[in-house]
Amino acid sequence: MAVSAHLSSREHFARAQRVLPGGVSSPVRAFRAVGGTPLFFREASGASFVDVDGDRYLDFVHSWGPLILGHAHPEVVEAVQTAASRGLTFGAPHLDEVLLAEQVAACYPGVERVRFTSSGTEATMSALRLARGVTGRDRIVKFAGCYHGHSDGLLVAAGSGAVTFGEPSSAGVPEAIARLTSVLPLDDLGRLEELFATTGREIAAVIIEPVPANNGLLLQRREFLLRLRELCSAHGALLIFDEVISGFRVALGGAAELYGIEPDLVTFGKVLGGGMPVGAFAGPAEAFARLAPLGPVYQAGTLSGNPVAMAAGLATLRVLKRDDVIARLEVLGARLERGVARVLDASQLPVTFVRQGSLFWFALGMREAPRRDDLIPAEAASIYRRMHAACLRRGVYLAPSAYEVGFLSAAHSEVDVDLAVDVFGAALAEAFDGEEAR
Ligand SMILES: *Cc1c(COP(=O)(O)O)cnc(C)c1O
Repeated sequence: MAVSAHLSSREHFARAQRVLPGGVSSPVRAFRAVGGTPLFFREASGASFVDVDGDRYLDFVHSWGPLILGHAHPEVVEAVQTAASRGLTFGAPHLDEVLLAEQVAACYPGVERVRFTSSGTEATMSALRLARGVTGRDRIVKFAGCYHGHSDGLLVAAGSGAVTFGEPSSAGVPEAIARLTSVLPLDDLGRLEELFATTGREIAAVIIEPVPANNGLLLQRREFLLRLRELCSAHGALLIFDEVISGFRVALGGAAELYGIEPDLVTFGKVLGGGMPVGAFAGPAEAFARLAPLGPVYQAGTLSGNPVAMAAGLATLRVLKRDDVIARLEVLGARLERGVARVLDASQLPVTFVRQGSLFWFALGMREAPRRDDLIPAEAASIYRRMHAACLRRGVYLAPSAYEVGFLSAAHSEVDVDLAVDVFGAALAEAFDGEEAR
């Protein structure tokens, strides 16, 4: 895995910046958090991809989660090609959307109805609208450190002090909308109880990533999720599990299966589309009787249930089940964890390796795994910047941000994992050397 000076990527990036804002189609890809030039890629297969300069990288991002089988899995590609040759979109019902919905219902506890969308953002946005339509209430609750896509009501941060009204976390989000969202810290039962005690009857829904994986990997205590379940039930608020990352990854039945806790509504994306643009929200028939065309809650999509995307999702779930991929990824993840533990034992660096199945994250500067975003020290970002560059030089591609998790796929081999352990060890040593030198 030789590393060039990224000459072509630099040229492409310069050109891209003249027509794409920041040179990218989604902000984290711009490498702002780690510095340097984002790599432009030309092809991918299995666990690696090749950039426009011809350098191959062992990939631990896998397009941020969808590619649980690896890049360009032959069965997924074949399913997509076959579907495409029969028509890219019908704008009318077809069998594959029924088959994929049946798969979702069979895998996930409590799911009787599924509505497909084209992204995770649409799935969470629509699930919230359905929850409001079902309950007749306006207030929603989210947790700091959880990401649910970029709809207005979810780009909200905690307001100052102990007030329950949120504030926009992005310019362009009206304050009036942000105020309908309350933001709580994760892992804080006291604040949760208090919010329900004061405003429980106004809450339409609480949305949470039950395996928070968008601001580090902030694994929660089961008791916390369980109490949240109880409080929602007691106050008639709907509990929404955002399983866009964790769905079909931490277990076939997602975090609901992992923790043995059933939400009222669930959102999917990423793995469900196997690399094509797919999202879904799902739940019991009774709630979905309120959704158009059955009920008054409107939601739609020109390309929703797209046949090519449905084919990719079906092929992905077929292989996932047939090859017992999730169990294999647990074995691979455990191997990575043992390897990294050996490296950390030897180096005594202040780093905690956090893992749930095929999701992993380096908690830099932390001696234990944090359960809240505000426990991540500010210096984690600068340490990660050096670690990321050191990995890239050695042909290992990690997410270009300290707050993003790593992904294992079925395409990773034991050899890949062992190589990654060596590279991570060397990169961590370099990253912390840089810290002392400064
Ligand atoms: C990625 C993600 C989303 C948003 O999905 P998009 O397809 O990027 O719109 C929502 N929730 C979670 C938990 C995610 O990880």
